Amino acid sequence: MNSDTNWLSMADLVLRELYRAHDELTRERETACAPGCAACCRDRVQLTTLEAAHLVEHLRLVGREDLLERLAGAASPEVYRPAWSMNALARMCLAQEEPPAESDPPPARPCPLLADGLCQAYEARPLACRTMASRRRCPPDGQAEQDPWWVTLDTVFFQLVEQADAGGGFGYLGPVLALVLGGEARGLVACENLPGLPVPPQHQARLQATLGPLLARPVAGQSLGMRLQSLRRD
Ligand code: SF4
Repeated sequence: MNSDTNWLSMADLVLRELYRAHDELTRERETACAPGCAACCRDRVQLTTLEAAHLVEHLRLVGREDLLERLAGAASPEVYRPAWSMNALARMCLAQEEPPAESDPPPARPCPLLADGLCQAYEARPLACRTMASRRRCPPDGQAEQDPWWVTLDTVFFQLVEQADAGGGFGYLGPVLALVLGGEARGLVACENLPGLPVPPQHQARLQATLGPLLARPVAGQSLGMRLQSLRRD
């Protein structure tokens, strides 16, 4: 996570706008998901350090010290580390390089913010949680079923959210929390600048039509696209 206060508050504004836009764009997504169905909350959430800082700040603002304690209990600089971030994967894809094999994930366990089948920090949940949707009810221990267009759009949002935290870190919940709550930076990969969008040909026209209005959304007097550009790191 970058520590400059002005940078952080602007990055957080950009993150909030990306969350808002994602919520609006995915309202029409066909989904069988409903409150109380939390199969995906028992999996391994990956997020950026900026997203974790946003989540922690939200819980402080709403006075949920109990949840902050739970998060602190889940913070651990584990050895589990993703093999790449989404922008690193896109960079390798655009350069036609073979990405390294995915590393072993941590054991699946319920998210510390899950209670009675509901997310206790729903408004501030990370993008990974916002993209969890299935057209059919997931079978026990089974995979979600997603329309390929939404997978493409979600991937673009992952890349933009990572751009908002370029220079920060990306990883599983435990190690990211450990860093954000003042501990060690272990088990993370670096958030990279957006290298481009490797989008399947059949989705390019629809994405172009979506990206124009998305990047034109206002954030503190400038467009989201310009704000994202200003968050690029050398
Ligand atoms: S943050 Fe909320 S939505 Fe995401 S895994 Fe945890 S309980 Fe589920």
